[in-house]
Amino acid sequence: MLALAAARLGFDVAILTPEADSPASRVAAHTLVANYGDEQALAELAKLCAVVTFEFENVPAAVVAGLQAAGAEVAPGPKALAIAQDRVLEKSFLNQIGVPTVGFHQVDTVADLTAGLDLLGAPALLKTRRQGYDGKGQVWVRTVSEAEAALESLGGGDCILEARAAFVREVSVIAVRNRSGAFAAYPLAENVHENGVLRVSTVPANVPPETETAAFAMARKLVDGLDYVGVIGVEMFDMGDGRLWVNEFAPRVHNTGHWTLDACQVDQFEQHIRAIANWPLGPTTPFAAAEMTNLLGAEVETWAELAAEPDARLWLYGKRDAKPGRKMGHVTRLKGRFPTTGGA
Ligand code: AMP
Repeated sequence: MLALAAARLGFDVAILTPEADSPASRVAAHTLVANYGDEQALAELAKLCAVVTFEFENVPAAVVAGLQAAGAEVAPGPKALAIAQDRVLEKSFLNQIGVPTVGFHQVDTVADLTAGLDLLGAPALLKTRRQGYDGKGQVWVRTVSEAEAALESLGGGDCILEARAAFVREVSVIAVRNRSGAFAAYPLAENVHENGVLRVSTVPANVPPETETAAFAMARKLVDGLDYVGVIGVEMFDMGDGRLWVNEFAPRVHNTGHWTLDACQVDQFEQHIRAIANWPLGPTTPFAAAEMTNLLGAEVETWAELAAEPDARLWLYGKRDAKPGRKMGHVTRLKGRFPTTGGA
């Protein structure tokens, strides 16, 4: 979708991917099939590109830092990526810049986990520090007696224990910052996850304007603190009493921003391309309320029914293999006029 957005603005896109037959390669001008650490492929990518970006947060931060050191223009920078890749660094950084999160405790041993449970209360959520996504790499720990098995199930160490957030809803901000520090954000999306995987995003979120203002202020603090360039997805817990805690941020376009494809003049993908290419940012005010539903695994087979719905906009990603739970596409249903001005 980034490649499509870039092509529409007249850019040629070169992609580097370890996957031989990737959906992006079917719409990009050049494809380099290689591992992310492949020196030769990286040199070629740097030669081909005026600016390099990424759309997957598990690209090694060292690779992005290496490209930058070799003189390539990279956006966002390796700092945001390195912080987002490690849940302990991420929460520490957020707290350091004054953005609240759940309480947490670094866990490398069973003794750390026991101490963490004491400190944060039970149940608490044990997560791997790195490489977790879509609810993978996390397990609830209810009692001290479960500690050893829980830590073992996540590899025995390099984990974080998080206090349970008794949130009333989950929301996210899709924000963008360009090289000059200009900032914009789409209205807050309200998100429902199932088994740690996003199911539905609804916009506008059912929150008072003060909550949205507070969420935008946190997102702004974050992107300014990271000296960030590009689109960022910031997931938050709404505690229902005016408090918002950031759960995590993704230094890339975000699934909870897919609704912008159909309900905004400039969607998150174009916005990202604009930011990294140093164009002016586009408007973030939606012209319609929207509800985006992910199509997971075999659900993609309902495409014909969805395509027949007049207010449904269907996006299929062209992934060949519909493994259970895999994000195969999404459908956005437009829900009439957007009720407020929205966005920042
Ligand atoms: P994550 O991988 O951190 O995005 O977590 C996936 C989902 O698990 C979140 O969207 C929440 O629904 C839930 N979750 C994550 N962390 C917590 C927490 N500390 N307390 C309660 N629920 C959580």
